[in-house]
Amino acid sequence: MSLDMPTLFVAVTAVALLLAFWVAFMAWGQPARHALWAWALGLMCCVISQVLFGLIDHFPWALAVIGGNVAYACSLALMLLALRRFQEVEMVGWRWLAPIVLVGLICVLWLYEVRWRVLGVTLVFSGQIVVILLALLDRSQKQHGRGRYILVGAFTTLLIILLMRAAAAASGALDGQSSAEGARWLAVVFLISMGVILSITLGFVYMTVERAERLNFELAMKDMLTGLANRRAITDQLLNTVARAQRQGQYLSVVMLDIDHFKQVNDSYGHQAGDMVLRGVAQTLQSRLRAQDQIGRFGGEEFLVILPDTNLEGAQTLAEALRTAVEATPTQWGAHSIAVTISIGVRGGAVTGGDTADSLVGAADAALYRAKQNGRNRTELAVVAAAAVPGFMAMQATQA
Ligand code: GH3
Ligand code: MG
Ligand code: MG
Repeated sequence: MSLDMPTLFVAVTAVALLLAFWVAFMAWGQPARHALWAWALGLMCCVISQVLFGLIDHFPWALAVIGGNVAYACSLALMLLALRRFQEVEMVGWRWLAPIVLVGLICVLWLYEVRWRVLGVTLVFSGQIVVILLALLDRSQKQHGRGRYILVGAFTTLLIILLMRAAAAASGALDGQSSAEGARWLAVVFLISMGVILSITLGFVYMTVERAERLNFELAMKDMLTGLANRRAITDQLLNTVARAQRQGQYLSVVMLDIDHFKQVNDSYGHQAGDMVLRGVAQTLQSRLRAQDQIGRFGGEEFLVILPDTNLEGAQTLAEALRTAVEATPTQWGAHSIAVTISIGVRGGAVTGGDTADSLVGAADAALYRAKQNGRNRTELAVVAAAAVPGFMAMQATQA
């Protein structure tokens, strides 16, 4: 099979141009700082570079060489910028433009020294790709999803090709290259470029889609004030946990908590202080729970805690630990230290086939109601039919 160079050139350029337009289309309506805009511009620079190199005979030679290399450096710099914007990491100053200036200087200085020029620019491009790879592999960045692996794979391939080219330049192989060898090399570069441009753009767009999906999921399942699971999410978790406990014959305890006299906090310090207290209580509760426990904001100042594989005694002990922790951890609000207490209802122990998520929550809620009736800042245990709990012992309310 012989590869027709003009056809290859047109195909690769058309693919890059089309992708640039589609990415710009996706970014349309977004602010200019949006990562997709930087990516679209990066692709456009890639197209310019390809046109200058591909049609080198139709342009003044020096312009094509300098312009093509500078445009390629721009393309990589803009892709790094897009990635950093996606990661919401500010690029310090104008440092990201340095490789572009460096490539321009190398081209001007060694315009007629093919070995040094190719070696110099290829090493700068490789450096740019290494910086992109390091940004992609940054472990502190959690939002990449699987799209990052597509990008890592494609950029690594590009890096290997560039390093091979640098090695060829350093060994002087490019100096006396025949036009047939040059053409073969160019065909390989064209084909790999097409694969890389397609892959990195797909990877980048997939990364933004994955993040948008994750954000939507969080919005749907997370309580925005406290950061805990919202009512829908904790109810879903309870349904799953009840089914598992029934299947595996495990204990399951459900704990309902409500802040005492919370209305007074709002009335005395204002709604914002109330919000702060809610956040503080949520944090205190969460910090005392074990890894397998789940907590959610069930209502205004009401929380639901699911304790899988936990019997009544274990649940009661944990509930008391939560109660004393909240009591001992006031929230700072300006000069004020706002202390609140919580009342707790515990429905603990074994679950039977007849139990449902609703019945468990109902039982915990009834116990909570009794805790309120009996003076607040206390834990009450739900009354469960003796037959339902193996080794059932008379349960007593715990005096706070
Ligand atoms: P009790 O001890 O009987 O539970 O008394 P309470 O005042 O805590 O209970 P009540 O149900 O009378 O009041 C609950 C208050 O919680 C009323 C409501 O304004 C407040 N609240 C609910 N959600 C929020 C919220 O997101 N932020 C703030 N600041 N207040 C909230
Ligand atoms: Mg309350
Ligand atoms: Mg309430």
